[in-house]
Amino acid sequence: MKYIIATVRILFLALFLFLVAKGKMMLWLALFGVSLIAAVIFGRVYCGYVCPMNTVMVPAEWISKKLHWNTDRSPKWLAKEKFGWFALAASMAVMLYAKRALNKNVPILLIWMGIAILLTLRYKPAVFHNHICPFGILQKELGRFAKFSNKTDKEKCIGCKLCEKVCPSESIEVKTTEIKAEISKAYCFQCANCQQVCPADCIHYSG
Ligand code: SF4
Ligand code: SF4
Repeated sequence: MKYIIATVRILFLALFLFLVAKGKMMLWLALFGVSLIAAVIFGRVYCGYVCPMNTVMVPAEWISKKLHWNTDRSPKWLAKEKFGWFALAASMAVMLYAKRALNKNVPILLIWMGIAILLTLRYKPAVFHNHICPFGILQKELGRFAKFSNKTDKEKCIGCKLCEKVCPSESIEVKTTEIKAEISKAYCFQCANCQQVCPADCIHYSG
């Protein structure tokens, strides 16, 4: 399963880089627009499988852990979860200004990829995913209505918290052994990391 997921991500990353090289960034942004509609039905599958930023963050996190650079702390200025909206507005303003005033296309996604890598070398991936990504903020607002999503079977859950440790967006939480694991649709990428480690086989994608 994890090799299939990795292959899908790499293929989308290759497509993204191909479109950037050909100057067809608008096609990728159109794909992102379609993914927002899909998020209402299937959840944030764009974030889990298509997003080039998420794909490059996986090796960045691995390197960070190996070198012990990663920290559990989150920057205090991100506490109110408003930065994503600011990042979205600033990205759009830069793109529009460059196009109208300078007749240039700014490779905004490439810039955000660089920021995502740098931040993931220092902080847990959830810091970028949940607080900074200007694309994730839109996915979050629509993903919360997802008809299909990963869900936990609380009867079978043993509260071991293994799922929490592998979730890149901190969207699964085991509050107490009575409440058991619960997934937030707004934050979940449908990436299946939690499914793969769950010893009770109690996490499934369903409607
Ligand atoms: S809850 Fe599971 S499927 Fe959702 S993002 Fe976390 S690890 Fe991935
Ligand atoms: S890994 Fe499975 S059994 Fe363990 S807390 Fe998560 S959902 Fe429950």
